[in-house]
Amino acid sequence: MLMSGYKTETNPLLKEFDTPFGVPPFHLIQESHYMPAFEEAMKQHKAEIDAIINNKSEPTFENTILAYDNAGELLGKVSSVFFGLRGANTNDRMTEIARELTPKMSVHNNEIRLNQELFERFKKVYEKRNSLNLNEEQMIVVEKIYRDFERAGAALPKDKKEKLKSINERMSMISLTLGDNLLKETNNFRLVIDNEKDLAGLPAPVIAAAADAAKAAGLEGKWVITLHNPSWIPFLQNSSRRYLREKVYKAYYTRGDNNNEFDNKELFAELMKLRLEMANILGFNNYADNFLDIQMAQKPENVYNFLNQLWKPALERAKAERAQMQDIINREGGNFKLDSWDWWYYAEKLRKEKYDLDDAELKPYFSIENVKNGNFLLAQKLFGLQFVKRPEIPVYHEEVEAYEVLEADGSHLAILYIDPHPRPGKRGGAWCGSYRSGSYKDSERISPVVTIVMNFTRPTGDQPALLTWSETNTYFHEFGHALHNFFAEGQYKRTARSVPRDFVELPSQICENWAGEPEMLKMYAFHYKNGEPIPDKLIDKISKSSHFNQGFKTVEYVAASFLDMDWHTADFLKTDKIDVNAFEKSSMRKIGLIDEIIPRYRTTYFNHIFGTGYAAGYYVYIWAGVLDSDAFAAFKESGDLFNQELASKFRKYILGGNNLYEGMDAYVRFRGKEPAIDPLLERRGLK
Ligand SMILES: [Zn+2]
Repeated sequence: MLMSGYKTETNPLLKEFDTPFGVPPFHLIQESHYMPAFEEAMKQHKAEIDAIINNKSEPTFENTILAYDNAGELLGKVSSVFFGLRGANTNDRMTEIARELTPKMSVHNNEIRLNQELFERFKKVYEKRNSLNLNEEQMIVVEKIYRDFERAGAALPKDKKEKLKSINERMSMISLTLGDNLLKETNNFRLVIDNEKDLAGLPAPVIAAAADAAKAAGLEGKWVITLHNPSWIPFLQNSSRRYLREKVYKAYYTRGDNNNEFDNKELFAELMKLRLEMANILGFNNYADNFLDIQMAQKPENVYNFLNQLWKPALERAKAERAQMQDIINREGGNFKLDSWDWWYYAEKLRKEKYDLDDAELKPYFSIENVKNGNFLLAQKLFGLQFVKRPEIPVYHEEVEAYEVLEADGSHLAILYIDPHPRPGKRGGAWCGSYRSGSYKDSERISPVVTIVMNFTRPTGDQPALLTWSETNTYFHEFGHALHNFFAEGQYKRTARSVPRDFVELPSQICENWAGEPEMLKMYAFHYKNGEPIPDKLIDKISKSSHFNQGFKTVEYVAASFLDMDWHTADFLKTDKIDVNAFEKSSMRKIGLIDEIIPRYRTTYFNHIFGTGYAAGYYVYIWAGVLDSDAFAAFKESGDLFNQELASKFRKYILGGNNLYEGMDAYVRFRGKEPAIDPLLERRGLK
């Protein structure tokens, strides 16, 4: 239907993908193809929406809901390719295209989301849904699409819609500025060291990086420490110059709070008022109520209860860690009380004393090939999956590998790309994405095309890429997201991608549990030179070190989560002026945070909550931590890490059944009960 007018089309994005498994023809796509493809795709999408609105017949599931769900196929296809490569393999031209595209896309989306006539048709179907003979999933699709529009404000009277539009515009401007200010504040600070003595305690690679940073800043021969994580964290961990640690850390935690042109306090306060106003217009008490309404947690009270359960044991442990570090200070004859800028330094000493885990010792057992095989083995032992390398599948960069994923019976399940190493043009971090979501079209399964993208250590000379323990965990994490994508079962686009934010890290985080199990390690961690399995002594160190500094880590994280929730549940509409720092202080005093720990993010640099993505949702990582610890405990309790009955339930309800079962419902179907918090506390050594 979509392609009929394009028989002579030369733009590969506008043609049927004539490749193995219909993956994107990366080898044919050029930057010049994107904008015309997007224009055409938006035009088609708009025509499809207009056809729904202009349909003279009574709205039905087929002519309205299904038609809407099917609309925009080409736009989805072009978007997946463009945005996938924007992250993994971008260049200046792609950045320009993104700038040109973003406002056009947002107008396009707004026109659909706030369209009164379209919403009226949805509403008619929604209101008679019980008499339409819909199956379970169709009923869910009707309800979800109706609510999506309602949540966007489509049901509001015209004046409120206009108000909402202007609030939205102002909010996105503020979010952008807050982020830009933070970037400026982060980049504006540097500690210049010109005296070699001030490098005391720093390991050679940290000194080398500081020298490089100085050179880049035109200060050759000196050393520069910045507020970027790979710079300030190792500095705080290693520098024995206490006053310099203080200087760097203070600069870090006062970002956006310096009463200069990049100060974020006033804008943040305005954003909080606007979010509250928006939530009220949409019929919610506050922003947190609005956000949580579609999450597993459902209500702010539930998040608070949850955070409180973690808080007490974590704070107790942090206090014990503080005492251990003060001991070291006293033993060394340091005549001072531990402060926040000392924590990293003494924690490092404690780590060496108590855990003695050195990455250099571990790395030879985690060659990238071994870790990949470990992931494949996990999928095979749990679900019988097989992975076959397919060199004939086009890739977008020579380092990318393409695999076909097969079910135990040999039938085709999915395509998986693995893109392991950093290069200019790839954004930092690690993620899992897809070039095609798994779905159905006319009852025929469309298989997913999934990608995992990482920035792992490169091979050097004749040595293969040897991963750190943290990189190894990241590999399993992203692979877990990939499994979730492979098994997606929704018959409709809307149900195929229906996972609450506080559920989505369960499939990924649970895989990290397997990565560190002794039984599993013995199956994939072999020395890259002699093939010897990892010795018990090292396995022991890995498991012990998982408790290291967990009081601090949990406290700084949970404190920030409380701060996020407090901001988004507060009622300050009648307050003229919000004092951001006073609010933060009272929020932290309420939970009894100790002075030696600053929340992971203070308000003025809490990037997660500037944008809407994690606002009132910063808790989700540790929420998923409870889920994955409890879910993994099921396997442990059964005495079989690869218990087939549990694995098949896990696939059915957690990885696969999200079209029908959501959040807690899905979890309870898998586990037979709601998750307990104890396995997480045990894993972190907080119990
Ligand atoms: Zn993740």
